Amino acid sequence: MSIEELARENVRNLTPYQSARRLGGNGDVWLNANEYPQAVEFQLTAQTLNRYPECQPKSVIERYAQYAGVKPEQVLVSRGADEGIELLIRAFCEPGRDAVLYCPPTYGMYSVSAETIGVECRTVQATDGWQLDLPAIAGQLDGVKVIFVCSPNNPTGQLINPQDLRTLLEMARGKAIVVADEAYIEFCPQETLAGWLGENPHLVVLRTLSKAFALAGLRCGFTLANEEVINLLLKVIAPYPLSTPVADIAAQALSPEGIAAMRERVAQVLANRDALIAGLRETPCVEAIFDSETNYVLARITASSAVFKSLWDQGIILRDQNRQPTLSGCLRITVGTREECQRVIDALRDQPGLAATERV
Ligand code: PMP
Repeated sequence: MSIEELARENVRNLTPYQSARRLGGNGDVWLNANEYPQAVEFQLTAQTLNRYPECQPKSVIERYAQYAGVKPEQVLVSRGADEGIELLIRAFCEPGRDAVLYCPPTYGMYSVSAETIGVECRTVQATDGWQLDLPAIAGQLDGVKVIFVCSPNNPTGQLINPQDLRTLLEMARGKAIVVADEAYIEFCPQETLAGWLGENPHLVVLRTLSKAFALAGLRCGFTLANEEVINLLLKVIAPYPLSTPVADIAAQALSPEGIAAMRERVAQVLANRDALIAGLRETPCVEAIFDSETNYVLARITASSAVFKSLWDQGIILRDQNRQPTLSGCLRITVGTREECQRVIDALRDQPGLAATERV
């Protein structure tokens, strides 16, 4: 047998996640991964690299619990929120029997993780305004163990209606885990579902330090859930999921000063987002701009593939969403520095567009 034939069939058939770094590009304006545009600096304080780290570093857990307004027993820390997604599927879904459900267009790792593990992906397309199609979801719940809802949603940018989330939680009670992916919640913090954990033993909230905390390179994320869920995830997590330097820096980022700095960054990103949207509104090739509660903006662009390539060739790297269901002609633009936002607007204004009268 060839090496290829030795591999599991689902792995042979798998299309890996097209991460921003994998897609490459030769840019000087990187606006394709919803990162914070500038580096924040930390000094390492922990020098005990001869020893294994704690599985769940106490200071990181305690600080995150305090920040999120939950108990330390309700927090799990992992190698990014992406690892949280995988742990949930591994802990709750029997390969070949159970399914996960999610609502495209949405974040790509729910399907990649499920497919890797050999778990069925059930999809219910979002409604016109990218909300939950609750009647369709109700008809698809048979065998579903984990439901992923991204709010605010990547790549569309809007929140999922809280009333619909309540209905979904009632539908799933006793049957499935409902995961609210809050990777971007710092940009609309009042909307978190963390306060709903008390009444909902089957609710899970995913968080990350990769966005507003400006630490995508650290690889640190959090799963908030009731103790029973956390204890199951602790059974399947690697023995040392976080290296000592990661735990050291995460604890610093979650100090009162670290959180204050994060809030200042959020205010600055929101101001830059307003400037980006205002500029896009006055740009001929931009046909529609969708409301965003996040650090990115989705826009429908005339001849989007050609525009994407033209900007790529100029070193401005955006994210092409054209192939996602309902997103034909759409590009996702991360909110960068004010200068980067202006570079995007200037480059888009150089593109041929529709006459204003033809625009919607
Ligand atoms: N969920 C969503 C919606 C995301 O956009 C991302 C990052 N692209 C993640 C989860 C994963 O975050 P992390 O970097 O913590 O793995």
